[in-house]
Amino acid sequence: MILPKSPRLTPAQLAEVTAIVEPFGCSVQPIVGAIRTIYAIVGDERDELMINRIEGLDYIERFDRIQSPHKLMDARSDLASHRITFGGVTLGESLLVIAGQCTIDPKNPNFLYETAHAVKEAGANALRGGVWKPRTNPYSFQGDSKSLDILMEAHRRTGLPVDAEVMDETQLHLALDAGVHMLQIGARNALNYSLLRAIGRAVADRKTVVLLKRSLHMGPISEFISAAEYIVSFGNPNVLLCPRGTAPTLDGYRNHPDESITPLLKEKTWAPVVVDPSHSVGKAAYVPACALAAVAYGADGLCIEAHVQPSQGIGDDPKQALTPEVLATTITQARQLWALRRPSKVT
Ligand code: PEP
Ligand code: MN
Repeated sequence: MILPKSPRLTPAQLAEVTAIVEPFGCSVQPIVGAIRTIYAIVGDERDELMINRIEGLDYIERFDRIQSPHKLMDARSDLASHRITFGGVTLGESLLVIAGQCTIDPKNPNFLYETAHAVKEAGANALRGGVWKPRTNPYSFQGDSKSLDILMEAHRRTGLPVDAEVMDETQLHLALDAGVHMLQIGARNALNYSLLRAIGRAVADRKTVVLLKRSLHMGPISEFISAAEYIVSFGNPNVLLCPRGTAPTLDGYRNHPDESITPLLKEKTWAPVVVDPSHSVGKAAYVPACALAAVAYGADGLCIEAHVQPSQGIGDDPKQALTPEVLATTITQARQLWALRRPSKVT
């Protein structure tokens, strides 16, 4: 839909706009109003180049998109009936909880094995474990491919499916070859379109689930949904959207908690929302409240950092990880809240 700056386009301007849209298979239909005339684009109006050419005209005030730019991720797309099952949970039918260490310590694999058993006991459905880590400081521990074996061993010992972040194509293929069940795209890479494409291509013919974190720097909701569209466009619709806090931070928290975007996401897309409260607030003491807030907002799942001995952990674990006891209480309360939120069944 085109809105001109003046009450209506001149015949020459209308001819120019028509000449722009026709090569894209569209036509222009004026909608004449008493004060102002607006112009509908008839046809598929989503082509970015066509939109840019119209927005570039100095007599155009705005181009309003009527069609969603997210052909596949849109709540009204054919994929809306797609259901994702992970760790024995069908998203939307009960609350998915992924829990585990921020970072696997390759020198102390027993921590992950014990954490894996503990998070399972606490009620988690899947285990998270950072193999390779995106660290702000280049001298901080960057992760170690050896941790991949530890993660898969923890899977064998507990039966829990595992989630790990990949930051480049080498890690992506190592993780897939090892049998990692969920690939995490971190906040720093959610806008890395070549990585999104590589992951989409690599999982196209697999059941692998992709947990897409929201970038610290994403603005409009559509930017987040578009990042997911990149992956789904290759053919695998198993994508979970993960708000995890954004920048600038809310004073006192690690990031600006963004679980409140959950209802917006659920209105615009069919994809399940799995909130990460750990990176959002960044301190173990605040995580349970943030997790419950996420469920209250309608989240389908939670991704929580937990460790059997947080103080002995590496990466974020000493400050962010929940102990198994606190995790168990948080999961119990989150599931109770989730059950309250369910629309009651008509009997
Ligand atoms: C993590 O999950 O440990 C992590 C680094 O997350 P994020 O990409 O959200 O910072
Ligand atoms: Mn972390």
